[in-house]
Amino acid sequence: MSHRPALALHGGAGVLPQDRFPADLAEALQADLHRCLAEGWAVLDAGGPALDAVCACVAALEAIPWFNAGHGAVLNADGRVECDAAVMAGDGRCGAVAGIRSVRQPIHLARRLLEEPGLVFLAGAGAEAYARRERFEPVDESYFITPQRQAELAQARQLGTVSLDTAERFGTVGAVACDAQGRLAAATSTGGLTNKTPGRIGDSPVIGAGTYACDDSCAVSCTGIGEVFLRQVVAHDIAARLRYGGQSLPAAVETVVMEQLPPLGGEGGLIAVTPAGELVLAHNSPSLYRAWQRAGDPPRAAIF
Ligand code: ASP
Repeated sequence: MSHRPALALHGGAGVLPQDRFPADLAEALQADLHRCLAEGWAVLDAGGPALDAVCACVAALEAIPWFNAGHGAVLNADGRVECDAAVMAGDGRCGAVAGIRSVRQPIHLARRLLEEPGLVFLAGAGAEAYARRERFEPVDESYFITPQRQAELAQARQLGTVSLDTAERFGTVGAVACDAQGRLAAATSTGGLTNKTPGRIGDSPVIGAGTYACDDSCAVSCTGIGEVFLRQVVAHDIAARLRYGGQSLPAAVETVVMEQLPPLGGEGGLIAVTPAGELVLAHNSPSLYRAWQRAGDPPRAAIF
């Protein structure tokens, strides 16, 4: 049976409303989102696997300093980088890493773990040692750090908060895909939250919380306040609503994103896809940097 390929990506949930968002920035950002989408779409268009498509999108987003992943990741309270990433294929294979500061593309390390029998999740020094054993070229931590993120940390320290409220606070990145065989995949990569407690891990690299894929239901990548998404096991909850509850994807996402998360302080959003190639991109935050495409349709990008 042939399936309708579909791909979506996000560049995080934003906090600025449209009237306070610089128009030239919005335009540049959408061009970037289109470019990163095209990386993944080329894979699907050539008949390639959803897993490769989501990794291609996320790797492209990690390389852009605007986004809070890879180069341009936010800084923790000690002024250090701690990148988290996860990838899951709809057949159950998955890999995740946390607290990475010497691997240029954390999503590639997560992908390597996905291929590793008997291992799923590595953090900190152990993850970096694994990267060296797997011959990932080490990069200096300075590769990730940008003046913008240093300024944001200074501001957050001054306010004594985990700061999110700046125009430049482009978030976490992620992608979901359905390929021509109906195989699903999801990937997410983040620097976490500015001024976070060292060692803190959010939802993004936690399978079932910020990232999840199962070929019988859907693939999901989340962005938002990680602690709330962790407690609600959001990505798996969406899949469970389809699998056990018989809900449609739009209904499941509406319930979780619009009804369940807001009273808990769970500002953010998610992108999801079913094996039929149905896409849902939803947010309860003022914006969600996003782009998507389905076979036969042109690519689209949006912020608000
Ligand atoms: N969910 C991420 C975290 O809590 C942050 C984000 O999506 O912006 O680490």
